[in-house]
Amino acid sequence: MHSETVAQLQQGLRARKYSAVELTRALLARIESAQPALNAFISIESEAALAAAAVADQRLAAGDAPALTGVPIAHKDIFCAAGSRTTCGSKMLSNFISPYDSTVVARLRAAGAVVLGKTNMDEFAMGSSNETSHFGPVRNPWNLKLVPGGSSGGSAAAVAARLVPAATATDTGGSIRQPAALCGVTGLKPTYGRVSRYGMIAFASSLDQAGVLARTAEDVALLLKPMAGFDPRDSTSVECEVPDYQAALNQPLKGLRIGLLKEFFDQGLDPRIEALLRTALEQLRAQGATLTDVSLPNLPLSVPTYYVVAPAECSSNLARFDGVRFGHRCENPRDLKDLYERSRGEGFGAEVKRRIMTGTYVLSAGYYDAYYLKAQRVRALIAADFERAFSTVDVLIGPTTPTVAFEIGAKTNDPVTMYLNDIYTIGANLAGLPGVSIPCGLVDGLPAGLQIVGPHFSEARLLNVAHRYQQESDWHQRTPEAYR
Ligand code: GLN
Repeated sequence: MHSETVAQLQQGLRARKYSAVELTRALLARIESAQPALNAFISIESEAALAAAAVADQRLAAGDAPALTGVPIAHKDIFCAAGSRTTCGSKMLSNFISPYDSTVVARLRAAGAVVLGKTNMDEFAMGSSNETSHFGPVRNPWNLKLVPGGSSGGSAAAVAARLVPAATATDTGGSIRQPAALCGVTGLKPTYGRVSRYGMIAFASSLDQAGVLARTAEDVALLLKPMAGFDPRDSTSVECEVPDYQAALNQPLKGLRIGLLKEFFDQGLDPRIEALLRTALEQLRAQGATLTDVSLPNLPLSVPTYYVVAPAECSSNLARFDGVRFGHRCENPRDLKDLYERSRGEGFGAEVKRRIMTGTYVLSAGYYDAYYLKAQRVRALIAADFERAFSTVDVLIGPTTPTVAFEIGAKTNDPVTMYLNDIYTIGANLAGLPGVSIPCGLVDGLPAGLQIVGPHFSEARLLNVAHRYQQESDWHQRTPEAYR
């Protein structure tokens, strides 16, 4: 059962090949046995999962079952779920039991999905390697010495190790696409505003977006459908129709205009990843797509721009965790100032503190114009570059990451080197665009990702291209040896 996709599980459950309870038990056992090595979960919710699975079985038997009934999933621990611990990977929230459901959690529950637990993540989603979690690093199922990518590393590792067929995730600067690439799974970051952010703990509100990690583009489509759509509780969610993503998957690629991002095929890219991308592009060409070179001259500025905008927004969003209104409170405070200082000092980890300090600095009087305002202007230039590109091509294709997975600890002492991992993913966030990463080969036995970025609300097209590629390749079916 663990090797089946969401689409196969839907059929298996409906044909009563196995019950939702049997399926849930089998996957919970896999999660338990993989947990010591991978650390992919922060909370394993066996009891609640088995109860939900029993209800799913009743609904399946009664013939009153929405699309995902009985399908096991996991949520990144950034999504509030009623009655469930929601830590965001931080000591600050290590004992927070959410009193309400985020929209993503509520909608997937309404669609029938059974939640097996909450996945590990970089603290407050700040990171590219899943090493900043208060609950310890997540390890890559392809090689336990390596990082899985971040910040949704727990979700990606869980899907790659076949512990769950799909998991939710979030992407502020690449945190869905990047771990998808390093773990060899498929990850979609939707258009900003496509999926509600209500109940998703905020990092950088103008960039954060919820999406899906799964094995195939088809499975991503199956989960995205119920997640997407307007939500009156998120003022940035967009009121526009949710297409039938599944129906669009098989559309032929004939006439598809692919732009190759000149700035993405630069010297920073591992030439072995470039070779895999060229092979994949040939496959798409053989299906009728055309390839053109495209330049986005301001794109190389995306990393410095992001690392001003994101910390600025995080310093504001995280101000609420003060030990009074929200979050960890220190023991025996001497006075109010001591309470604030020690609660925040004890509750946040080093990377979060670094971001809060950078963000406070770039927003402070005298520096605001020089840093924050300038970054916002460059952001507009980057968005305009993408818009210009999409007047001549339908999608842009490039790598997801410059290298395959690296060793745990290799970059933790050098934040700037770590930030440079995000070079290919951040542009889409700054412009609010959707992007998908799909496995396109192995380098020294480790997965590499191909990224497809499209205009706003082009998720159906992106999944279509990804699906057609997956019909002609089997990289997405490769499984790390220890988890077959
Ligand atoms: N790696 C980026 C960061 O550290 C992006 C994280 C994300 O997308 N949540 O901010």
